Amino acid sequence: MENIHNYINGALLAPVSSLYIDNINPATGEVYSFCPDSDERDVALAYEAAAAAFPSWSEMPVSERSKIMLKIAQLIEERTSELALAESIDQGKPLWLAKNGEIPRAQSNIHFFATAIEHFASEAHPMGNHALNYTLRTPIGIVGCISPWNLPLYLFTWKIAPALAAGNCVVAKPSEVTPMTAYLFSQICIDAGLPKGVLNIVHGLGPKVGSAIVAHEKITAISFTGGTKTGAEIARVAAPMFKKLSLELGGKNPSIIFADCDFEKTVKESVRASFTNQGEICLCGSRIYVERSIYEKFKTAFVSQVASLKIGDPLHADTKVGAIASKVHFDKVLSYIELAKEEGGTILSGGKAFKVEGICSQGFFIEPTVIEGLGHLCRTNQEEIFGPVVSIQPFDSEAEVLEMANSTQYGLACTVFTENLSKAHRVAAQIKSGIVWINCWLLRDLRTPFGGVKQSGVGREGGWEALRFFTETKNVCVKI
Ligand code: NAD
Repeated sequence: MENIHNYINGALLAPVSSLYIDNINPATGEVYSFCPDSDERDVALAYEAAAAAFPSWSEMPVSERSKIMLKIAQLIEERTSELALAESIDQGKPLWLAKNGEIPRAQSNIHFFATAIEHFASEAHPMGNHALNYTLRTPIGIVGCISPWNLPLYLFTWKIAPALAAGNCVVAKPSEVTPMTAYLFSQICIDAGLPKGVLNIVHGLGPKVGSAIVAHEKITAISFTGGTKTGAEIARVAAPMFKKLSLELGGKNPSIIFADCDFEKTVKESVRASFTNQGEICLCGSRIYVERSIYEKFKTAFVSQVASLKIGDPLHADTKVGAIASKVHFDKVLSYIELAKEEGGTILSGGKAFKVEGICSQGFFIEPTVIEGLGHLCRTNQEEIFGPVVSIQPFDSEAEVLEMANSTQYGLACTVFTENLSKAHRVAAQIKSGIVWINCWLLRDLRTPFGGVKQSGVGREGGWEALRFFTETKNVCVKI
């Protein structure tokens, strides 16, 4: 069984402690590799390497930085099959999803920022003939990037790409639950000729490695994606040190379905929005509100499509629902299904663990679950479950559904289905979230601002927002 290595100063290294954590394939329940159990000593080495690399990386002509990053993107593309297989085994997602969605998106992340940086410009503010202000945007220095397990390489590269493109050196930590593709990515960076120390990847546990990155006094910006509780802990440590913070946190996203929607397309898109990647996407809709006049019709069609989703070995081409990423998360999702029953919910579809025959018989599978009969303020409808579990509820008016949709502590994304243009714009404007999709879900343009409001996060990723986050802004005023 393979030992995953840290990537520090251009080399693949064992952790200083020589300790490893079991890395489990969630589809089989078996340990299949070992993840470094690093600590603050590895983070210190990573910082030293990054600091040594910073002068030449930050001063390198942008076109050269861009060229190296484009080589990384090219190698991701060439190794798509290998990366997709690794992601599927590590995370439990269907192989086709990793191959057609996640790995190409990781490639796009690197490609997008490698080219965006060549077009990144700053402003000038002339004061008539008296003076000229101009804005300088310079790399911050050494930044920390911490990512979760649900879209491992996709979210890891989403942070690293703008950080590197802007001229920073990075100390990064992927999730200990899904470390494999970040490890393969470190090999790609070596093959692409990324200068040593520019990117350092330290594997291990959040409270050991993640917290050491956040607490490191010379790592002056942190870009984090993960749970809201972890985000609060990171903010608690980082805020008194005045670090720049970007926090992409949890969600409890509403899907609002009006009676005047395009019915067939809405049912299909709602199933996709609910259960893609086993519902383990921060943007998945998990509270479905349906206008009462089509509630029964929608419910019947939706439940019928959900019941037909094939659960099974993530490596099989016809599998639609793979394994839950870890045993801990599997138990958490099942406990929420029990809670929903205690709160008076009726299970319309699914509702329990699923046994896959053969080599996956010990895997962590849960049936896609649809629950009705819950009020919008109960815990099931307020707390993030982050699994293949949705609730469905009727509404009578636009005002009522807005109140229900906006009732949680989260505000990441919302999906609205209606063919009425005015209503679509009106509702979009009143939803308290960072992202609203009308008649679609997860349609992404990397130039757009990405992030949440309320307890779904602080700051925005994507496009110029990300490049601005990863640069310091300075105004220079010249008296003429
Ligand atoms: P998590 O918060 O448990 O872990 C995320 C990362 O933080 C991991 O790498 C973990 O090791 C690290 N970490 C844990 N404790 C830490 C600490 N004290 N200091 C520093 N780092 C620490 O989240 P998760 O379970 O891996 O991911 C699921 C969560 O991520 C869900 O809440 C989901 O909504 C959220 N998420 C948000 C977005 C978004 O863009 N808003 C995208 C994907 C996932």
